[in-house]
Amino acid sequence: MSLRLHDTATRSTRDFLPLEPGRVSIYVCGATVQAAPHIGHIRSGVSFDILGRWLAASGYDVTFLRNVTDIDDKILAKAVEEGRPWWAVAAHYERAFAEAYAILGCLTPTLEPRATGHVPAMITLMQRLIDSGHAYASDGDVYFDVASFPEYGALSGQRISEMLAAEDADPDARKRDPRDFALWKGTRDDGPGWETPWGVGRPGWHLECSAMAGMYLGSSFDIHGGGLDLVFPHHENEIAQSRGVGDGFAQYWMHNAWVTTAGEKMSKSLGNSLLVTEVVKRVRPVELRFYLGSAHYRSHIEYSEGALADAAAGYRRLEGFVTRAVERLGATAVAGAGEFNDLPGPFVEAMDDDLGVPAALAVIHETVSEGNRLLADAHSSDEELAGVLGSVRRMLDVLGVDPLAPQWAGDSGGADAAHAALDALINERLAARQAAREARDFAAADAVRDSLRAAGVLIEDTPAGPRWSLEA
Ligand SMILES: [Zn+2]
Repeated sequence: MSLRLHDTATRSTRDFLPLEPGRVSIYVCGATVQAAPHIGHIRSGVSFDILGRWLAASGYDVTFLRNVTDIDDKILAKAVEEGRPWWAVAAHYERAFAEAYAILGCLTPTLEPRATGHVPAMITLMQRLIDSGHAYASDGDVYFDVASFPEYGALSGQRISEMLAAEDADPDARKRDPRDFALWKGTRDDGPGWETPWGVGRPGWHLECSAMAGMYLGSSFDIHGGGLDLVFPHHENEIAQSRGVGDGFAQYWMHNAWVTTAGEKMSKSLGNSLLVTEVVKRVRPVELRFYLGSAHYRSHIEYSEGALADAAAGYRRLEGFVTRAVERLGATAVAGAGEFNDLPGPFVEAMDDDLGVPAALAVIHETVSEGNRLLADAHSSDEELAGVLGSVRRMLDVLGVDPLAPQWAGDSGGADAAHAALDALINERLAARQAAREARDFAAADAVRDSLRAAGVLIEDTPAGPRWSLEA
């Protein structure tokens, strides 16, 4: 079986056939940078990061664009609220998003184009739409003529005749039809504006994605992604703009589901406790990523502290195997064990089935159980254990959560230099404790354990000898 993806446009899961063999081009709608990201915002980043990682693991050369909407009514409103220029607001929250993506180990996109840097491409696209009869200028604004594009509504499964008015325009008579949407909004106050043949103004939200996707990925590209809330009107409008000028545009449309609270899409009104920067004070970043990435991307995640804690505990079980295997095998053996193992067939099948992460995780859990059996058996072969460890790490890496990846190694107490130094020091203390025990000086042995505990190091006696871990 090869990769199959659920395509919103056809409402079916179908074989993925790239336009160019061996290469995949992806455009994902990124953030409107007007507030710090909460975990609902960042789920899209994690979902499409897993897609990119899986395509790369499958041998594709991946080009991944994720735009930054840095001019928008919401940003202008925030600028008034915060009493600073709109561009300072946009830059501030763009950095907050960049930080959140990095905290969660999302790979850096090939390019993150900003709307404000692409006004010439937008002007060209608008001119083409006007020339082809799909758009019209009206008193400084430019609108897309929805009635000129019979396919309008196909992505979201709506008929034009049943649609409501587009929300993104001033409630005035500039539009010919209330369902027409703004490509460009004339500047009527002292707000920001760029010169165009139709007057000074700023882009409507939808236009930028068509212009930037076309500029970098060409008239047709493979996959367009975004959150489920973007299907209508945003993606419907992107299709109208790009196909309106004859571009093939996206071949597959993928939409990730939401993080919900009480069944509703998570919103800013929930306060700060679900900001990425706050949640990672309650669980480690890798655990938050595991939580957001372990559900199927098309399933809503109903947020609860309990579910987050369960996910964190589940991840620690997987990580515990990796840590113990490294302890037994030593860092040198581990260095070679990761990247060269084949991924288990059932894992590949699960991921090829529309990124079936839950089924893929079941394979990881089974493999870890097998690894734990090898660890418990003092006579098991190191080679076999190294093979299992390599498989587990490769699978976890596809999900972006390999505990020994440089992103997480310092965090997890993995095989980094600090860990090695600490390990040497603690082992010295444990040897002293063992010597005290053999001399039946239990007070001295207990004192070693207590001093380690006071330093935050917990000792567990196992059949294979004492094992240490850092207090959570
Ligand atoms: Zn977009």
